Amino acid sequence: MRIAMIGTGYVGLVSGVCFSDFGHDVVCVDKDARKIARLNQGEVPIYEPGLDQLMEKNVKAGRLSFTGDLAAAVDGAEAVFIAVGTPTRRGDGHADLTYVMAAAEEIAAALTGYAVVVTKSTVPVGTNRQVQQVIARANPQADFDVASNPEFLREGAAIEDFMKPDRVVVGVQNERAAEVMAEIYRPLYLRDFPILTTDLESAELIKYAANAFLAAKITFINEIAGLCERVGADVKEVARGIGFDGRIGNKFLHAGPGYGGSCFPKDTAALARIGQDHAFPLRITETVMRVNDEVKHRMVEKLRDACEGSFNGKTVAVLGVTFKPNTDDMREAPSLTIVPALVGGGARVRVVDPQGQAEGEALLPGVAWMEDPYEAAQNADLVVLLTEWNEFRALDLKKLARGMEVPRMADLRNIYSPKTAKRAGFRTYVAVGRGA
Ligand code: NAD
Repeated sequence: MRIAMIGTGYVGLVSGVCFSDFGHDVVCVDKDARKIARLNQGEVPIYEPGLDQLMEKNVKAGRLSFTGDLAAAVDGAEAVFIAVGTPTRRGDGHADLTYVMAAAEEIAAALTGYAVVVTKSTVPVGTNRQVQQVIARANPQADFDVASNPEFLREGAAIEDFMKPDRVVVGVQNERAAEVMAEIYRPLYLRDFPILTTDLESAELIKYAANAFLAAKITFINEIAGLCERVGADVKEVARGIGFDGRIGNKFLHAGPGYGGSCFPKDTAALARIGQDHAFPLRITETVMRVNDEVKHRMVEKLRDACEGSFNGKTVAVLGVTFKPNTDDMREAPSLTIVPALVGGGARVRVVDPQGQAEGEALLPGVAWMEDPYEAAQNADLVVLLTEWNEFRALDLKKLARGMEVPRMADLRNIYSPKTAKRAGFRTYVAVGRGA
């Protein structure tokens, strides 16, 4: 199979590399010339565990290459994947389809033989039909079908998720396109996993429904955590207790500082917008968005309380600012609400993050970046554990506390326990949803 992958972000690059590892010939395209230059030098522009080795292996095998020349990549490809960004459009919550439609126009001009144009980006219902119209209008001779193939990989575990998916969803209009899609994913069939072939609209909606459901689940436990604090219950126990119920399941029940990332915030906003556009407001999703915002702001108040009412003049060490561990992605991370509140309140903020600095520097002005958590905590008034990187999961709490001006910790990921923190010498330990 010859595949062209348009867009080499988290999704496009991981998908392109993994497809080449299946044995397909993959050409990855990006209009960002710097990205392509780095990729051609064997450098991976994002942080994703394992991606560099897999990329190197497949480039060496001659199955994977990178170019800025979309037409050359599309020429002769049997499948052209669109994996460009679909950020929130300014002002109205809609998914911004500018990049998708621009890619479709370019693909239309470059199509030579029959190809399936596959949208991997997360897009609103109706987008694949729009892509079809754009291509047919731009190139009436083009012999092509469209397919929807939403991606469910998680940053930080992207390769594993791509190679061992819970399911693959494919939306098509005819058998011909279904066969091409089946051929692309055939190498995965050896492992037993469901491939769901459906219509375009259902495939498009599955992605948004999945993300909105997960956002609701995490927000539910975050809200219960707030109640736990009022009534003296422990949200970890509550989550365990409900998670044993097979209908609920134990995943995605870790209370924390609110969801962020490149997907949940924009996808819930886009889904809510789709509902409004169809005169069917999605009240649960809309509420989830609102509650999640409140959760992030509640964290700021929690930190202020821990600092006895004011950040002014305090030194605060923040451990972890990426939206989750094992990624350098800062998009919509809770740190983008919390850190500016600390800085704005007059705190001196020191930040440690194993991969976040390159992205984070421009987003978090006025902080000092440091390498070592103990050094960051030296003479500090508060340590905030914000992203649960492995590096912060087994800290020597005694050492941490010993170096601090006033040993206070806000553990917003519930990694430690009140007992261990107290024993290590922390005078104040606050967590999320753990008692009064
Ligand atoms: P990204 O912003 O990291 O990457 C998009 C890339 O596309 C950029 O490198 C950009 O330069 C390139 N691009 C844009 N227009 C182009 C064009 N016309 N030609 C060539 N290149 C072009 O985005 P991402 O995080 O990889 O997300 C891509 C899509 O996948 C989004 O719709 C997102 O919602 C969806 N998705 C993301 C994730 C995730 O974890 N990041 C998971 C599942 C689905």
